[in-house]
Amino acid sequence: MGDQFKGLLVGIVLGGLFAVLLFGVVRRVPRTWWIWGSVVSIVLLAFTVLIAPVYIVPIFNKVTPLDDPKITEPILSMARANGIPADKVYEMDASRQTTRMSANVSGFGQTMRITLNDNLLRRGSPEEIQAVMGHEMGHYVLHHIYKDFLFFFVVIVVGFALLRWSLDWCLARWGERWQIRGVGDTAVTPLVFLLGSVFFFVLTPILNAHTRTTEFEADMYGINASRQPDGEAQADIHLGEYRKMSPGPIEEWIFFDHPSGRNRIYTAMRWKAENLQLFTPSQTR
Ligand SMILES: [Zn+2]
Repeated sequence: MGDQFKGLLVGIVLGGLFAVLLFGVVRRVPRTWWIWGSVVSIVLLAFTVLIAPVYIVPIFNKVTPLDDPKITEPILSMARANGIPADKVYEMDASRQTTRMSANVSGFGQTMRITLNDNLLRRGSPEEIQAVMGHEMGHYVLHHIYKDFLFFFVVIVVGFALLRWSLDWCLARWGERWQIRGVGDTAVTPLVFLLGSVFFFVLTPILNAHTRTTEFEADMYGINASRQPDGEAQADIHLGEYRKMSPGPIEEWIFFDHPSGRNRIYTAMRWKAENLQLFTPSQTR
């Protein structure tokens, strides 16, 4: 309940700011508000992503620099080998909310950082932790946060164009009965939420396909960087606690924002099969 309440407060502050800005735009430029609304939305999204690791995540969880050299040394070595200017790895007490293992890359520019959660540290083998860190470094090196911005900018512009069209259509039809005096009337807010929900619901497979593609790229990068295909497979089995391991292809395409466990393990084992010389002891003495 405490976390829900904090989430509500964050939503009121950021959502309130967003609503004020958007209604300001709609009232000032009544014909091209959808273009300027898109710009305001992407700027606010970027602002939120920028401040999240430093100002929002700590509201819910304690984030501390990890200082166990047995774990950090191999990770920082992998970071140096991959040209990542990191001298710290962060740990988050996610066990407050869940037993799920996870790690992430968050923020951008100066606030970008790699964080492991304590479930991963407690439950994962060293090979598994390295495989997961290789994956997160993949997100970092392949600039996935910036590519996500570009992708979401397109989604948001299309969304605002459709919002303008559907709002005009609804208001022409029912505006009088619903007593909404126009797009700049705050009474339009519930209708905007309804139309927005429909838009993002219909877009589910496309949003998931985008995320799943970047996650697959991070998997490939991670296995090459960490050379821990067995660790990757262990992590995938752990993730199977809350993700269905072996969905059908259509189910995976619609619902999965990561490759299925089965596909991830298959990919890791294929990599291992092609690199067996790394795993057999050297014959030369
Ligand atoms: Zn990922």
